[in-house]
Amino acid sequence: MTSDNSDKLVILRRGKEESLRRFHPWVFSGAVASTKGDLAEGDVVKVLSSDGEYIATGHWQIGSIAVRVLTFKDETIDAAFYVRRLSAALEVRRALGLQDHQNNNTYRLVHGEGDNLPGLVVDIYGDTAVMQAHSVGFHYARHIVAEALQQVMADIIKHIYYKSETTLPYMANLGQENGFLVGGADVADVAIENGLKFHIDWLRGQKTGFFVDQRDNRSLVERYASGRRVLNMFCYTGGFSVYAMRGGAEVVHSVDSSAKAVNLATANVEMNFPGDTRHKAYAKDAFHYLQAMPSDDYDLIILDPPAFAKHRDALRNALKGYTRLNAAAFAKIKKGGLLFTFSCSQAVSKEQFRLAVFTAAAQSKRSVRILHQLHQPADHPINIYHPEGEYLKGLVLYVE
Ligand code: SAH
Repeated sequence: MTSDNSDKLVILRRGKEESLRRFHPWVFSGAVASTKGDLAEGDVVKVLSSDGEYIATGHWQIGSIAVRVLTFKDETIDAAFYVRRLSAALEVRRALGLQDHQNNNTYRLVHGEGDNLPGLVVDIYGDTAVMQAHSVGFHYARHIVAEALQQVMADIIKHIYYKSETTLPYMANLGQENGFLVGGADVADVAIENGLKFHIDWLRGQKTGFFVDQRDNRSLVERYASGRRVLNMFCYTGGFSVYAMRGGAEVVHSVDSSAKAVNLATANVEMNFPGDTRHKAYAKDAFHYLQAMPSDDYDLIILDPPAFAKHRDALRNALKGYTRLNAAAFAKIKKGGLLFTFSCSQAVSKEQFRLAVFTAAAQSKRSVRILHQLHQPADHPINIYHPEGEYLKGLVLYVE
């Protein structure tokens, strides 16, 4: 767990530096010829070509990805390095105008590879930063990153909460220290997104507490919701439901298998639309609900399931899952209805997802047109050298 990376080396097999020369930020274990120094998972290492030429510096990992690259410049990984990286990330969010606190206090500041910090995620909720390590390297670096965050975000944040119990590799056995690295009292518990309010349970909630990545897609639901009967399947916090309510939906039904999620969705709709009887929420399994519901009841359905494929080896089953789920919606949606369907599995490509939905449409024999192709928002940027970073994809379909 040292940040002095001069003595820890990873030497590549001949020719295996090619993808790194094109700035791809991962070294796969099969590309490694040998190592020097006593490497432990999470160490900062230098990567050299077979000829001994410097290529990159990154975090050493156990698994199919051996190194996640922090820099292609031979520089020291210290607080100043993280200040530079975080400042660059903040610059982008400033350019996006995501800091109008009246209407939006919630955004992603650091999106792993997309911000040249593979293994790190930071979401901002008002004056609180929620930090997640997806690598042992960033677990060890958490204090130094927190320091850098305080410096870069001095005017914006007062609290830094570290939350990595679900994201660190399970083998790491690090005695996970979830908790505040900075601050702790009076933390923001309401996120504001496009002027709508959401309770944030980032202590116990999924991810960092809220799915910041659906912001733009929720706005699109609002745009089309007027007069429609809306089913928000896999509702979690009820994000899509609250937008549909503001968009003038006739009814909005939120469904999630988790009773906690259903309560959260109910509370969020109530906070924004007190006493509004258009909304109802049900704790039900998606497949059961879709099969049991009558045909033609809904003319706007949102399907935003959890990642069906967390790993590549689960891909085939995941694709079948997407087909089955979408087929159930095609079977029941009203003529002229809109289906918003998503996949957040990184292992499933845009083309594969589209093929799964195509298969479902063909099974239903209905006429289906693609109106929009959706993706993750700009505060979840994709490093152009790391196309794997494109994980969220969605289709808006017009069903006759
Ligand atoms: N659409 C949400 C995010 C969805 S996260 C948003 O915009 O914030 C996925 C959700 O699916 C979780 O809340 C989880 O509880 C729920 N879920 C998982 N399996 C399910 C199933 N079989 N049926 C219904 N909901 C399920």
